Amino acid sequence: MHPLRSLILAAAGNETIQHAVATAPLARSVVQRFVAGVTTDAAVRAVRGLADDGLHASLDYLGEDTGDAAAAERIVQAYLNVLDRLHAEGLAGWAEVSVKLSAVGLRLDPVLALNNAYRICAAAEQCGTTVTIDMEDHTTTDATLSALAELRRTWPWVGAVLQSYLRRTENDVAALAVPGSRVRLCKGAYAEPPEVAFEGRHDVDLSYVRCANALLEGGGYPMFATHDPRLVSVVAERARWFGRKRGGYEFQMLYGIRPDEQRKLAEEGETVRVYVPYGEQWYGYLMRRLAERPANLAFFLRALVSR
Ligand code: FAD
Repeated sequence: MHPLRSLILAAAGNETIQHAVATAPLARSVVQRFVAGVTTDAAVRAVRGLADDGLHASLDYLGEDTGDAAAAERIVQAYLNVLDRLHAEGLAGWAEVSVKLSAVGLRLDPVLALNNAYRICAAAEQCGTTVTIDMEDHTTTDATLSALAELRRTWPWVGAVLQSYLRRTENDVAALAVPGSRVRLCKGAYAEPPEVAFEGRHDVDLSYVRCANALLEGGGYPMFATHDPRLVSVVAERARWFGRKRGGYEFQMLYGIRPDEQRKLAEEGETVRVYVPYGEQWYGYLMRRLAERPANLAFFLRALVSR
């Protein structure tokens, strides 16, 4: 991994840096580019704005590595709340939710996390939408996939996420590329050791294409989460080659990243879903986005020092 990327990912756990970011006015404007806001209102407003442009959304109430059951419960309540609002405002057809199991208690107690995920899935079903279970670092992959298998016994539509940087992912794709299965394919956002993850970008991209082929050839509903222009065009071309009609798969991108491309793909008739993070705990998420792109970091550091 690039040393700068490791450094930024390490800063993700640093409270002093977090305080500096939270109190620098211009840095806040950078946060707003990537995070829809802190409240349910802000999240619903973002969904409505995207829907006006023909873009679907997946809402992520920010929080990870929740340390106690009360905090996990607050996160569950935030999801139940936003699902109600989506339903009440006629937006459930436009937005689903993305959930991190560590946010709802995975490291605390896997049974609690599963139970919390059950409650969110049950609410999503009642509101007429779906849930995708985000994938976190490799130490949680097995636990996440087994929780997913449990949830899918009741709700086969619960979405999985697989990361092409992991060496194991081609095998996981083979198991999940089955009819009715919704699978998001991304490159992966965590600092992982070489024993488990490809190190070079090229190897990660090649793995992405191999996994995309397997998903398109299989019977499930693939969700291609990437901003990489080359991968977007390879996937679109492979989708046609496998005879997939538009709407038989989707592209996904993050809020604030390549918004023009998001609209362009939707105008061309592709289904596009934007991952919309919101909530108080935006810091770890923001640091991962900065680590992905040095240009973002330069922009951000300038904002941080102009207080
Ligand atoms: P990259 O090679 O990183 O980027 C390709 C190009 O996209 C860049 O050259 C640039 O033009 C643009 N770009 C990429 N990132 C940025 C940025 N931060 N700012 C500005 N431009 C940028 N990861 C997980 O580990 N687990 C998950 O559950 C997960 N869910 C995701 C859901 C969605 C909808 C998306 C889009 C990503 C998700 N990710 C997740 C993150 C993902 O793994 C990558 O870290 C991230 O998408 C960057 O990879 P990339 O495919 O866009 O390609």
